[in-house]
Amino acid sequence: MAEVPYFISHNKAIEIAIATPLRLGSERVSIDQAHGRVLSEDLTSKVDDPPFDNSAMDGFAFIHEDSLTPPKTLQIIQTIQAGESSATQALQRGQATRIMTGAPMPPGATSILPIERCDVNEANTTVTLLEPGRPHFIRKRGENLERGTIALVRGSNLTPAKIGLCATMGWPEVPVFKRAKIGIISTGDELKFPGEDLEAHQIYESNSFGLAGLVEWMGHEAVRYQSVADSMDTLRQALDKATSECDLVLTSGGVSMGEWDYVRKIMEEEGDVHFWRVKIRPGSPPLFGTWNGTPLFGLPGNPASSHVVFRILVAPYLRSCMAGGGPKEHHLRVQLADDLKGDVKCLALRRIKVDLSGEIPLAYSTGPQGSGNLNSIAQADALTLLSPGQASNKGDWCNAMLL
Ligand code: AMP
Ligand code: MG
Repeated sequence: MAEVPYFISHNKAIEIAIATPLRLGSERVSIDQAHGRVLSEDLTSKVDDPPFDNSAMDGFAFIHEDSLTPPKTLQIIQTIQAGESSATQALQRGQATRIMTGAPMPPGATSILPIERCDVNEANTTVTLLEPGRPHFIRKRGENLERGTIALVRGSNLTPAKIGLCATMGWPEVPVFKRAKIGIISTGDELKFPGEDLEAHQIYESNSFGLAGLVEWMGHEAVRYQSVADSMDTLRQALDKATSECDLVLTSGGVSMGEWDYVRKIMEEEGDVHFWRVKIRPGSPPLFGTWNGTPLFGLPGNPASSHVVFRILVAPYLRSCMAGGGPKEHHLRVQLADDLKGDVKCLALRRIKVDLSGEIPLAYSTGPQGSGNLNSIAQADALTLLSPGQASNKGDWCNAMLL
């Protein structure tokens, strides 16, 4: 059997995982339903934007040379409003057209003066221009977008502004990546559903709920299975069911070195492991592989670790499966306002609160940083990205990833 890559950098781990991508496929959705989805094809404009020369202001249109020696009085020959469909008269020297924002420019007109800079006589027959005209208030056909140009590329997140742009380009429906169905299975004999009576050796199961939230945040559908006991048989059944129903499976717990770490055991004996253990702290135990051909991340059981590993490994994997789309990873430089523990071998992902109110972004520890302490991440708005061996005392600077 080939050696399984062991205790590797997170970048190497991502590279190995994305070699087994999800084939999400594409579907067309109405732009009413497209918010938060990711484009699966480049989108070209079906029209010039704007489709015709039009006025950017309510005011008067005229031949620019007529306005160069203000004040200048011109004859009003017509009014054009936005949506005007009837033919408009061509302008001659000495003439002006009353025009509204978005209305097509009359033939011959080369300049606009906003209404605030014009005096109209009582009979509404003449206008006196008080200043020279502004040719730049004409919005030229195709100045924003030319028909046939690619305005949005595959992998674009359909934000409100981008959805508006789809409409501007003439697309009532758009091609987007299908949502993945992502199964989540927590493992551990000690786990109870939140709110049930606890015996002395039991705890409430939290990872599957947090992971389901992260899956939805990434734009996918979470399928949360009931947690399973630490036994090969129950685990095998759960993995068979989840892999037959889902595109990707996330397990939590049972991937460390312990005797009862059955996820690792069963994946080694009956599945296919592509890597095991990653140089990150917290969260060094994860594995990636396939079960019945379906990709699977085995995440650690410690609650803070499972969140961190999702952010560091699973989120980049999912982005890669959608041509880079999905919620972005935002980094910033911060100065530590507390001493934090680094690591000589691993990327250290300490949970911090970032104060952006001063001139320098200051990072405070969220308190005890044990990997079992979910509160450390619940209170955090960022994770440090401390390289192996990097100094991490109060006053040191480091990169951080916003949560
Ligand atoms: P494991 O990775 O299975 O060795 O679990 C590591 C630690 O995380 C243990 O203290 C477990 O009790 C705890 N743990 C495992 N799974 C969960 C879960 N789904 N929710 C909350 N805590 C968990
Ligand atoms: Mg366990």
